[in-house]
Amino acid sequence: MDRRHFIGQSAAAVGLLAGLSSQTKAANLQKAEILVIGGGYGGATAAKYLRLFSKNTARVTLIEPNTSFISCPMSNLVIGGSRNLAEITSPYDTLSKRHGIKIIQDSVSSIDPDKKTVTLASGKTLRYDKAVVSPGVSLNFKSVEGLAQANKDGITLQAWKAGPETVALHKQIAAMREGGTFAITIPEAPYRCPPGPYERACQVANYLKQHNPKGKVIILDANQDVTSKGALFKKVWAEQYAGIIEYRPKSNVVGVDAKTKTLKLEVEDDVKADVLNVLPQMAAGEIAIKSGLANSNGRWVNVNFLNFESTARKDIHVLGDAIQIAPLMPKSGHMANQHAKVAAAAIVAELSGWEVNPAPVLTNTCYSFVNDREVVHVASVHQYNAAEKTFKTVPGSGGLSPAPSTLEGVYAWGWAHNIWADSLG
Ligand SMILES: Cc1cc2nc3c(=O)[nH]c(=O)nc-3n(C[C@H](O)[C@H](O)[C@H](O)COP(=O)(O)OP(=O)(O)OC[C@H]3O[C@@H](n4cnc5c(N)ncnc54)[C@H](O)[C@@H]3O)c2cc1C
Repeated sequence: MDRRHFIGQSAAAVGLLAGLSSQTKAANLQKAEILVIGGGYGGATAAKYLRLFSKNTARVTLIEPNTSFISCPMSNLVIGGSRNLAEITSPYDTLSKRHGIKIIQDSVSSIDPDKKTVTLASGKTLRYDKAVVSPGVSLNFKSVEGLAQANKDGITLQAWKAGPETVALHKQIAAMREGGTFAITIPEAPYRCPPGPYERACQVANYLKQHNPKGKVIILDANQDVTSKGALFKKVWAEQYAGIIEYRPKSNVVGVDAKTKTLKLEVEDDVKADVLNVLPQMAAGEIAIKSGLANSNGRWVNVNFLNFESTARKDIHVLGDAIQIAPLMPKSGHMANQHAKVAAAAIVAELSGWEVNPAPVLTNTCYSFVNDREVVHVASVHQYNAAEKTFKTVPGSGGLSPAPSTLEGVYAWGWAHNIWADSLG
């Protein structure tokens, strides 16, 4: 055999081997059981994109207790009474009908990362090769004394997970006595949706302006200052809600007396109000904490930002609000949707024997309604930084609205309908 012939044959053999190995890997992808826990912005998007990126070959099961998806983005408009819950609700069954995802309506009660199994509340146990965990946040009721009981008694509502509480909180506001006070408390960051509480204050003030003009809104913020879109919100409060919204920074609420509807603050005097919307400290969804994934102060989940795999457990990828964020990365639905795409691409690549994208980029846009039509936004672009193994905002990217506008109100609804279609459609 001459040298040229040998090299040709060897190359063919190497080619065949490579072909075999990618076929074997492709078979790995098709054989793998991929369980997605939680059908919110992170989980629903991950389930759909695992199917899309694998050309519908990956076996994907989504476990979610709710019968339909109710969006937190836009839910403040339901609290302000200008929209209803049906307008922010999407069905889950499109994911099965259009994308072949198996949906189990149940919740995961435990994960065994050693055996690679999850147990459902119904008692059934499922095996996984890869698990994607996107359970959102849990609310730490213990961080405010008396809150758990006040919530149980229906006196305080959080409505920080959209659903029946969203409607109930609107009803409390609508039933408030003439000239009554609505108080919203904000925990120290990080918490789900930095601008969300300030948007909510605007929505409640907008409702009161029309239906209860002597009513007041007090914002008790544990942070030093407004944590997102600060100058824009403050301008709106001064121009549209003067005499209605009162903003108190550095006001950390530590207790609630449900009987007298009084909030106890760490330093300042107590505050009494008619409707109490107490947002306590937040942490990763309960299942992440219970499963030992929350290795950042027992509160959030550290992940490898190239594939969103938990640093505590192999083959468990964690998305969305549950993770320990990179600098300036908000806990937002838009971000959870972006995490999901990076994780889905990485999982398909890993199971197919392809290189995982070494330089992922994420974007974020967040719209806030300052009344029922006018909106302000903040946007940013986040690039993976290999040296520091984290995402960094790209200098000069994104930006802020110059002022609220109705045109941005149109964009905001466009954003919502697009992201619902992208995640669930
Ligand atoms: C008032 C408000 C306004 C907001 N506005 C915006 C906005 O304008 N733009 C924006 O981008 N973001 C906004 N957000 C933030 C956004 O809602 C969250 O960042 C986003 O929902 C996070 O997605 P996730 O997948 O991490 O969690 P979620 O969307 O909360 O999904 C978690 C899912 O997991 C399920 N789950 C939990 N535990 C289990 C279990 N054990 N087993 C099975 N399933 C489980 C839950 O039922 C839920 O469906 C807002 C939030 C609030 C509260």
